[in-house]
Amino acid sequence: MWAGSSAWESAALARQRPRVQIPPGPPVHSFSNPNGDGTKVNKLGAVVFVEVELLKELVSIPSHFGKEKKISEFIASFLESYAKVEIQEVEGFGNNVIAYLKGVKDTVVLNGHMDTVGLGNGWTKNPWGQVEGDRFYGLGSADMKGGLAALMSAFVGIAKLSRRERPNVIFTAVVDEEGYSRGAWELIRSKKLDKADVVLVGEPTNEKLMLGARGRFVIQIEAFGRKAHAARPEQGINAIEELSKLLANLGKIRKKKHRKLGAGSFCTLEIYGKADGLSVPEYAKAIVDKHTVIGEDWEFVKRAIEKLVQKLDIKAQLKIEKFKRPTPEMLPYRVRENLKVVKMFKRVFKRRTGREVEITHGKSVGDFNYFGTYLGKPTLVFGPIGGNWHSADEWVSISSVKRVKGIYVEFLKALVWT
Ligand SMILES: [Zn+2]
Repeated sequence: MWAGSSAWESAALARQRPRVQIPPGPPVHSFSNPNGDGTKVNKLGAVVFVEVELLKELVSIPSHFGKEKKISEFIASFLESYAKVEIQEVEGFGNNVIAYLKGVKDTVVLNGHMDTVGLGNGWTKNPWGQVEGDRFYGLGSADMKGGLAALMSAFVGIAKLSRRERPNVIFTAVVDEEGYSRGAWELIRSKKLDKADVVLVGEPTNEKLMLGARGRFVIQIEAFGRKAHAARPEQGINAIEELSKLLANLGKIRKKKHRKLGAGSFCTLEIYGKADGLSVPEYAKAIVDKHTVIGEDWEFVKRAIEKLVQKLDIKAQLKIEKFKRPTPEMLPYRVRENLKVVKMFKRVFKRRTGREVEITHGKSVGDFNYFGTYLGKPTLVFGPIGGNWHSADEWVSISSVKRVKGIYVEFLKALVWT
């Protein structure tokens, strides 16, 4: 299995269909004696990097959200050799994997999601893994199996240290991030992370440190007009046209601006309406995405839309509702830059790379929103360089995965020194 990258590569290339079967019995990996630097020497005498081998393995296992069973089994069996592992059932949506290391001082949660979006069209590389130079191509390679591999190998690296040399670490791999974040929500709801002092998420940030993100909810707007013969439209109220007028003007709503997160945004995602034959349509419906910044909640946004409706003199009756989702809405959050853990992360980054880390804030949402708000802990997002997330020929930089892993390890160690 771990016969070194070239053998693995040719096997991956030869394999057109995904390998979904995890061999039963003892774990498929053989990382029991990695070198101190996170590498190990394989049977052929070549040095392989744990994080790179893990990346290959993770990408070779399809894990569309809702179908994370195999990958969660692999991750659990891999970590079992190093730590106490717990499987957390997310009812009807697979299992989260949680692994615990006891240490001293702070408690750090390492988090990554196991799921990917679906396999779209247009792939020219093997979506289950293909190496080309420094790029590792594959579905979910950047989002976020590269980060997950780095987190797992950092966890394993830290597991080899004595208790006094490391913080308490809770590694978490979750399901359904690309769906409704049911995995992250279950973790928070179960209170297993309540002792956390900091959460480190390995989403791909191109090695920038993300200290906050906008939030999001979805709005459903229904328009009720009045039917009339289409030849005499003035006698009716056209629900489609009235609703369109509103949608076309949503951008005019004055935006709340946040110093770090920027401004919120509206985007119409879906529209439906149909006349009954040659009639003025009496019903239309639209689904609108609303990204929010701190200070923009549902009531605020609803009031702003209602004001716009009045200003535009919309004649149809409107029903404006927040679209219901199975988990709580994603709220915006921000991490203060003067926190001890942030300063420490910056120092570690500089020590490893020789330059200052770039600070960024997320335009869109992810599980990190839950950790930053409902869990209410400082949530740092930092992950490898990659490209084509959620599209064909997604890739992650192999050297970046290695570098990111090194930074994770040093950050964890640094939490104990100070
Ligand atoms: Zn992601």
